[in-house]
Amino acid sequence: MTKKQKPRFGIDIDGTVTTPDTLIPHINEQYKTNIILDDVIEYDFLSAFPHPVDAREFAKWFKENEAYMYSVSAIAQDAQAILEKWQHSYELFYISARDASVSEITFKWFKENNVPFHHIELIGSHNKLAIAKKHNVDVFFEDKHDNAVMLAEELNIPVLLFDTPYNRKSIPTNVVRINNWTEANQWILKYF
Ligand SMILES: [Mg+2]
Repeated sequence: MTKKQKPRFGIDIDGTVTTPDTLIPHINEQYKTNIILDDVIEYDFLSAFPHPVDAREFAKWFKENEAYMYSVSAIAQDAQAILEKWQHSYELFYISARDASVSEITFKWFKENNVPFHHIELIGSHNKLAIAKKHNVDVFFEDKHDNAVMLAEELNIPVLLFDTPYNRKSIPTNVVRINNWTEANQWILKYF
């Protein structure tokens, strides 16, 4: 393992660097629904539908359209400015469940949105534990509740959990619930 010069941050992309509601308009357009973020109370858009939707059909539609949806995803408020400042003091390692097939789109999005990065890893599954461990990250940024809890407990690192309707479950003491990037910045400047 190479010795780190600076604290290394593991950062999720979707719902963390991008806004948690950025995919919803695409879903509403496709399914003629009026889903809002508050309807999404599980980490699964199907939970928000007013009528039953076939899970396999939804997964198929999502897969076919994800590259486009990711390419136009909205960046979270203040994320760019804060990450811009952080890049000089910390190593920014983005670790995402996105599939490697959207790698090009993802790099393009980072460049277009002027989001700095030292490394981007698309692992194609929600199991971030091995990758976060391999990269020896000092803190993680997440919006998925079970990921946050697992990373915090298994790696014994603080995890900043961006609050959303779908992650409001109990958390251990080293998972820190925050509302936005400004709060993330305040926490980081205090402890790193
Ligand atoms: Mg996420």
